[in-house]
Amino acid sequence: MTNPCIICVAITGSLPTKANNPAVPITVSEQVESTHEAFEAGASICHAHVRNDDQTPSSDPEKFARLKEGLERHCPGMIIQFSTGGRSGAGKTRGGMLPLAPDMASLSVGSNNFPTRVYENPPNLVDWLASEMLEHGVKPEIEAFDLSHILKAADMYAKGQIKDTPYVQFVMGVKNAMPADRHVFDYYVETVKRLFGDNVAWCAAGIGARQVLLNDWAISSGGHARTGLEDNVRLDRDTLAPSNAALVRRAAEICENYERPVATWRQAREILGLRVPA
Ligand SMILES: [Zn+2]
Repeated sequence: MTNPCIICVAITGSLPTKANNPAVPITVSEQVESTHEAFEAGASICHAHVRNDDQTPSSDPEKFARLKEGLERHCPGMIIQFSTGGRSGAGKTRGGMLPLAPDMASLSVGSNNFPTRVYENPPNLVDWLASEMLEHGVKPEIEAFDLSHILKAADMYAKGQIKDTPYVQFVMGVKNAMPADRHVFDYYVETVKRLFGDNVAWCAAGIGARQVLLNDWAISSGGHARTGLEDNVRLDRDTLAPSNAALVRRAAEICENYERPVATWRQAREILGLRVPA
């Protein structure tokens, strides 16, 4: 396989803290530094949440603005993707940073269970987040926690709520949601190809110990890969990951095993149909 593989680094998330792994970047300056190292290791997308000083999740647009500014300065060309996920706020506060016009934002299009609660994505909120993304020129990444979410994305695309061919991420291994099941994974791949064409770009993320497994499945199947401390804080059962960059390097090694080059930020932008800065 020769098609370049995009590595996305999910640097912080809304759950892991310094107590889980001291390398989790919390402040904006820690986030910029950690992303810069991951960018040099081969990541071309930074998926980011922001935090309050006490490490709790935040949805403060001002923090997102400072992060965007820092990333643009220190990681020029890298694709910036903000999370509109549900842990950082309720309702429309989840999309309060979209007017900053990041390159991309995550978009959950349906509800499902999470480890200790329901991950609520009511239809009117999904519609509103999608319309804000359209208005501000933000490309959504569809977070598929379930098969129905892929079909919902196709429906939204057909209705013009999503501008370009949906870029779907299969999320597996969240407790009480879809486990890392190989048959389901293969059917997801088959489904995005049937709905959006054989050459459609897609990606996958695994949680905890499933991260490396999903990296392997995605990279060997022609998809793109997500890694980072948001999803997993360990290299193996006994070893904490020393940095986001270490997890990116591990994904890059898997690319090497399958003879796939790691996409540069320029290639990643071309693959995803994003603006390529001069
Ligand atoms: Zn996230």
